[in-house]
Amino acid sequence: MRTAMWLALAATTLSACARPEVQIINDAAAALGGKDRIQAVKTLIMEGEGTNGNLGQNVRPDAELPIYNVTSFRRAIDVPTGRARLEQVRTPTFLTGNPAPQRQSLGVDGDIGYDVGADGTATRVSNRVTNDRRTEVLHHPLTLLRAAMDPAATLANPRTEGNLNLVDITTAAGQNLTLAIDATTKLPARVTSMSYNTNLGDVAIETSFGDYQDVNGLMLPRRLTTKVGRYTTADIRVSSNVVDGDVGDLAAPEAARATAEITSDPPANVTVEEVAKGIWYLAGQSHHSLLVEFSDHLLLIEAPQNETRTLAVIAKARELRPEKPLTHVVNTHHHFDHSGGMRAAVSEGLTVITHKLNAPFYQELVGQKHTIVPDALARNPKELKLQTVDGELVLKDSMMTVELHTIDGSPHAETLIMAYFPRERILVQADTYSPTAAAAPFAANLLENIRKRNLRVDRLAPIHGRIVPLNELVKAAQAMSSNE
Ligand SMILES: [Zn+2]
Repeated sequence: MRTAMWLALAATTLSACARPEVQIINDAAAALGGKDRIQAVKTLIMEGEGTNGNLGQNVRPDAELPIYNVTSFRRAIDVPTGRARLEQVRTPTFLTGNPAPQRQSLGVDGDIGYDVGADGTATRVSNRVTNDRRTEVLHHPLTLLRAAMDPAATLANPRTEGNLNLVDITTAAGQNLTLAIDATTKLPARVTSMSYNTNLGDVAIETSFGDYQDVNGLMLPRRLTTKVGRYTTADIRVSSNVVDGDVGDLAAPEAARATAEITSDPPANVTVEEVAKGIWYLAGQSHHSLLVEFSDHLLLIEAPQNETRTLAVIAKARELRPEKPLTHVVNTHHHFDHSGGMRAAVSEGLTVITHKLNAPFYQELVGQKHTIVPDALARNPKELKLQTVDGELVLKDSMMTVELHTIDGSPHAETLIMAYFPRERILVQADTYSPTAAAAPFAANLLENIRKRNLRVDRLAPIHGRIVPLNELVKAAQAMSSNE
């Protein structure tokens, strides 16, 4: 009896004197409903709605992201195993003509991340995406505190920022996160972890929590807002938090488990088609480039997607005309899928030619830290050489003439430029008209830009799709206007 009392007293004293980093976790656990209550939780199901931001697709580099409305949001987590699946329907608000809602089913089971298509087919996702999903499971107060309470977790660097107490957590599995709790309520305010993005480099992912509710003795947030760097990518309002409900089977589907792990970008396939003398279409996958031959140098149009694609395109260009240096790359607009190879192009010494609105964006892109995945530019640092287009820029010598024109008034982006070859009557542009795409919402605007500048176009050699006569664009523009 006396021993038991003494032990109880000692425990009380001990917890009152917990190291500050442990105290932050203890405070948060108590505010959430107590350690035992947290550890007893088997599953969590969140349902609700909200918005997603379309990362890398804003109209200007400094603009807010275009928004998807999210409905039928359901995130199910098997807490002890960390298996999780997010199902939601996203409807773009940034396209005209009633765009179709997109059903998403995104899962993670241990080191296997997977997507399930509308037809039920499961595909494995890359290790990088899988890692992000595993960390995302911990972007919730319940799962993070549970992981932080694991004796194998490490807590460090307790500190105060304004009305927040912060602590760094390394989980038993080696994931690094920073938890910030409200100094008054002790409830978790946000969690931050680092991720890697081809364009943004080392980037913080932060989820903020708000609007807590009591669910059977547990305080759970009803508002979860996620930012990637400075961009808000998800803002979810939870209408229903269910603890220990039936999450169904969250194991990775067999098709995903049977697929080998994906550790790098997809391999590049670069095909060559001579469009006219001195102009080659370097295609083969979703994003094409063009090689242009001047009398004493070569110019590339577009460094898309990632360094794997862009370095393969550059190698092909040099193989086609080894006697002339490749010196410049024209960028059609700043969207991430069209600028993902830009750092690789800079690492190869190319001067970037882009819309004047993009200048600060490319300065920043070239200055980003890429330590999590050292890319071509991190391995071979170079200064940015930049040339900007303000309205029109003509590149001309005895052999070749290319006119670069801004595309004005496009709802797709305010940073678009198109390349026009006056002698060959060929026009190159990205995203304002893609011949093989299901819809052409920006076709009329492109046609207007062509007419306003009196460009005598015979053929389009687009970044997406295939080479078509101008008439295809005219028909697409008419079809869109008759739909309105
Ligand atoms: Zn775009």
